[in-house]
Amino acid sequence: MQEIRIPVSKPDLNGRELEYVSDAINSTWISSTGKYLSCFERDFASLCSTGHAMAVCNGTVALHLAMLALDIRPGDEIIVPSMTYIATANACRYVGAEPVFVDVDPENWCIAPEKIEAAITTRTRGIVAVHLYGHPADMDTINEIAAVNGLTVIEDAAEAHLATYKGRPVGGLGRLATFSFYGNKTFTCGEGGAISTSDDQLAQRIRTLRGQGMDPKRRYYFPVTGYNFRLTNVAAALLCAQLERRDEILGKRKQIFSWYEERLRPIEGIELQPSSNDVTVTPWLFCMTVRDDAASSRDEIANCLRQEGIDTRPFFIPLHTLPPFREESAKRNDDLPVTNDLCRRGLNLPTYSDITESDIDQICEIVRDCVSRR
Ligand SMILES: *Cc1c(COP(=O)(O)O)cnc(C)c1O
Repeated sequence: MQEIRIPVSKPDLNGRELEYVSDAINSTWISSTGKYLSCFERDFASLCSTGHAMAVCNGTVALHLAMLALDIRPGDEIIVPSMTYIATANACRYVGAEPVFVDVDPENWCIAPEKIEAAITTRTRGIVAVHLYGHPADMDTINEIAAVNGLTVIEDAAEAHLATYKGRPVGGLGRLATFSFYGNKTFTCGEGGAISTSDDQLAQRIRTLRGQGMDPKRRYYFPVTGYNFRLTNVAAALLCAQLERRDEILGKRKQIFSWYEERLRPIEGIELQPSSNDVTVTPWLFCMTVRDDAASSRDEIANCLRQEGIDTRPFFIPLHTLPPFREESAKRNDDLPVTNDLCRRGLNLPTYSDITESDIDQICEIVRDCVSRR
């Protein structure tokens, strides 16, 4: 097998990342206090238009902490899309709750609001709206359903930093939002995450639970069982360097998206990620789907590319079909045709700052040849 020459993803650390990390190390503030943490939390809250942002050690922990802070408990049910990363559903299980899967909307690939109501039971406590592949979910409709039914809305914005919905940034569109800064995300610090909210009490609770449950007014007094979910100042230094280059990082990815769109849109048999006109999508990983009448399947196209040293990534395997969730899902008779269909046909193509236009030419030519040969 040929070595990978073009990976799916690669972080862009070419700004002041190294300088800020060195500064954090020289300052000796390498644990969970320091100026980069304060700077990150202040700037990120402002980018989310929320009163608060709390840094945590990864996006999965952000979701877990969200469940804890909202007092989600054993026996509760949380409505989540099946087409998402496993962490969205795992976080429900960490607090003993059950994720109840709902199909996605073919128009934006996010949780389908009209499918939510049928999944609500007396045990339902909340909805996780995942802004999948950088596209914000239909938050107004989701919030309305939540309000009528007394549910809490969590945004899982791990893939959609700085995306907007009706002119408002993600992160402040539900009760709280979670983010990831894993190495393949649009903004990264290796491993990292955040929670944003404008609810002062909730923010206080999140800070307390993140730091072992310590009373903010009484050092080393612990009124509740907490966790160590903190991020380091060294990692936050990376985030500060990433965020100050946000326009540059997003701009490069937007350019890559338009190079792909130009070349792939005319290809019969290939379809691209749809987007609503009231949102701005954050370009994360470029997405395409392969029609069933194309000459090659998704996996065959991935193999063609792999033979030329180009890596790709299939869409998520629907969570309701995975071993931890499939029994409960079968009991509920989950019927998620849009999710099953997209996850079978979808492929993510390489997306990172220094991929070149000629790399993209080559990728798209391989896709075209593969799709049109009979
Ligand atoms: C990446 C991701 C997460 C988890 O983030 P980690 O930082 O890897 O723990 C959660 N939800 C979604 C939708 C993601 O893409």
